[in-house]
Amino acid sequence: MNSANQRLNNLKQSIEQATELAGRAAHSVTLLAVSKAQKINHIAELHAAGQTLFGENYLSEALPKIAALKDLNLEWHFIGPIQSNKTRDIASHFDWVQSLDRLKIAKRLNDQRPSSLPPLQVTLQVNLFSEETKSGTTEQALFELAKAVDAMPNLKLRGLMSIPPAQTECAKQKQQFEAIYTVFKQLQATYPDIDTLSMGMSGDMNQAIASGSTMVRVGTALFGERPADWKKHINE
Ligand SMILES: *Cc1c(COP(=O)(O)O)cnc(C)c1O
Repeated sequence: MNSANQRLNNLKQSIEQATELAGRAAHSVTLLAVSKAQKINHIAELHAAGQTLFGENYLSEALPKIAALKDLNLEWHFIGPIQSNKTRDIASHFDWVQSLDRLKIAKRLNDQRPSSLPPLQVTLQVNLFSEETKSGTTEQALFELAKAVDAMPNLKLRGLMSIPPAQTECAKQKQQFEAIYTVFKQLQATYPDIDTLSMGMSGDMNQAIASGSTMVRVGTALFGERPADWKKHINE
């Protein structure tokens, strides 16, 4: 077994263990492999090992990868902050957008999604903890945004994404994930079709799964540490 295979299998096992420990159904948590800073051949190796969902944060980094790997039929998720001038390429080259947090961007993605493609699958990014450095809509604005997105024919509302602040204290971490889960359930009461709560990364995925996450976004635990200077080459 090669190492991509081994890392993927180990991670999937940890996800299933956390799922079982939480008393949840087997395979109810999906793995998004976060491939920012990772080379094309490493993505191809993971695909050969059975992974099909990949997430990228920066358009300039993602486009060449998507083009190079187009024959593999990967499912690409955009998970980074979205600038208006990037929406056309995001709408044309991605299957999902997880970081949607404002109406102006939603309208552009809806207008620019090519009609030859199925609707763009979206999760709304919420920021419940008033962190000014992070993207995400407030809880107050969330329901209005959801209503608008739900009415857009070229976008399909799938749920929520959140990146709560890192906490060293387990109880604090749990409290944050549970607060996000509560908002997800409230949204689901209005939109019963939504099925995705994207929360949890390498460092906190077990707690996120215990609190109801349905999708974990994992980079480091799957590919290893990102090179310290990888952002130097990125032209946002
Ligand atoms: C980088 C990133 C991840 C993955 O983080 P790791 O700690 O490497 O697992 C997940 N979600 C988002 C939005 C990211 O930017």
